[in-house]
Amino acid sequence: MKSPYFTAEHLQFREYTKKFIEQEVIPYVDDWELKRSLPKEIWKKMGKSGLLGLHYPKVLGGSEKDFFYSVILLEELGRIGYAGFRVAIAVHAYMATSYLAYKGSNELKKNYLTPAILGEKISCLAITESEAGSDLNQLQTTATRNGDSYIVNGHKKFVANGTIADFIVAAVKTSSSLINSKHGATGISLLIIDTKIEGVDAKKLNNLGWHCSDTAELRFNNVYVPAKNLIGSENQGFYYIMQCLQLERLVAGLLAIGGIDSCLTLTWQHLARRKLFGSTLSKFQAIRHRMADLVTDFKAAQQLAYYAAWLYEHEELPFAECSMVKLNATELANRVAQECIQFHGAYGYQNENAISRIYRDCQAATIAGGASEIMRDLIAQSVFEEGIFGKTKSCV
Ligand SMILES: Cc1cc2nc3c(=O)[nH]c(=O)nc-3n(C[C@H](O)[C@H](O)[C@H](O)COP(=O)(O)OP(=O)(O)OC[C@H]3O[C@@H](n4cnc5c(N)ncnc54)[C@H](O)[C@@H]3O)c2cc1C
Repeated sequence: MKSPYFTAEHLQFREYTKKFIEQEVIPYVDDWELKRSLPKEIWKKMGKSGLLGLHYPKVLGGSEKDFFYSVILLEELGRIGYAGFRVAIAVHAYMATSYLAYKGSNELKKNYLTPAILGEKISCLAITESEAGSDLNQLQTTATRNGDSYIVNGHKKFVANGTIADFIVAAVKTSSSLINSKHGATGISLLIIDTKIEGVDAKKLNNLGWHCSDTAELRFNNVYVPAKNLIGSENQGFYYIMQCLQLERLVAGLLAIGGIDSCLTLTWQHLARRKLFGSTLSKFQAIRHRMADLVTDFKAAQQLAYYAAWLYEHEELPFAECSMVKLNATELANRVAQECIQFHGAYGYQNENAISRIYRDCQAATIAGGASEIMRDLIAQSVFEEGIFGKTKSCV
């Protein structure tokens, strides 16, 4: 069937991605969930297969493909039904490394972005702190200039890939006069911190879901970071974050779209199999209507995501639409999971049933990368205060 978004080459790429996932992920992912970690080999395999740098320039080791290749990868990662895996890869390939592509120096790109695209170095993005989640004004981690270095002190919370990362893209305060000020966000800078430097400590946190991704707490105790590891300009980090977070939100929405698809597919298979009262569950009208509503909402959410991806590919990162995609898709994923686990009866409540993992995993996406309430604020701001849907420049 013809699609306004996907060409025959895109479809071939979807088959390639599916095959990679079937061979290299599915046989092992349950073990990774149990171990609560991903092995370094999977990053290397994904890097070798070109799956970690689809949208990055060829000169940096990427494939320089249009964004719909990324849409396919993200949907297929979502369809696996293991949010820990999809998030670990997406944080690396589309979230942490975006800042390097956007504002990193050539030297930083060579030393960190290219190895990340090849899967030789793993990245994480450390913005959140205990007192600074939705409210970035409260950031307390400091980076004080000392000769050719910054000395970093502080901590970060809920950092995906935190214990396995080779480098951290960290938001720090470089303007001490702005700490605790209501204009504090303007004193933020972004630094690349090598995790092997003395004074960097990572501790795994115990998440409800996302088991194969490690979410960590990071501590920095007098960490000397070369000043050349500054991304872009000092005190401009807040603006870079606002920019790149929109791509993160589009990506989070696309992952959720893939997740919803697999949840609905699994549920339909269960309904078609499960016999009671002389019929299969799939024949009961009450259930069919609820499934019909969910599938309709899913298709609408998917089209909004494709539209935002199209805007990103053809124009600029669409500010309001990225927030809408994240809000809509991640909230819908929760609703779909809740309905679908109910349709599975007690079988769905067993840990070994995929639907229970999907149910447990989906809540985090409405919080991470900006909670749904923040998405609503951003959308309202675009619509009511700016008068039109705001637009920002492309971040990669
Ligand atoms: C599994 C997971 C992985 C994560 N990975 C990363 C990562 O890799 N890097 C990183 O830096 N951070 C990461 N985070 C942190 C995430 O970005 C923050 O949790 C998020 O920004 C919300 O911050 P908070 O948890 O401090 O909640 P708070 O800011 O304390 O907010 C709590 C709740 O209050 C509500 N709320 C907040 N603001 C408003 C408002 N203005 N109006 C109305 N209601 C509001 C929302 O429901 C929100 O969930 C991760 C989080 C999770 C759960």
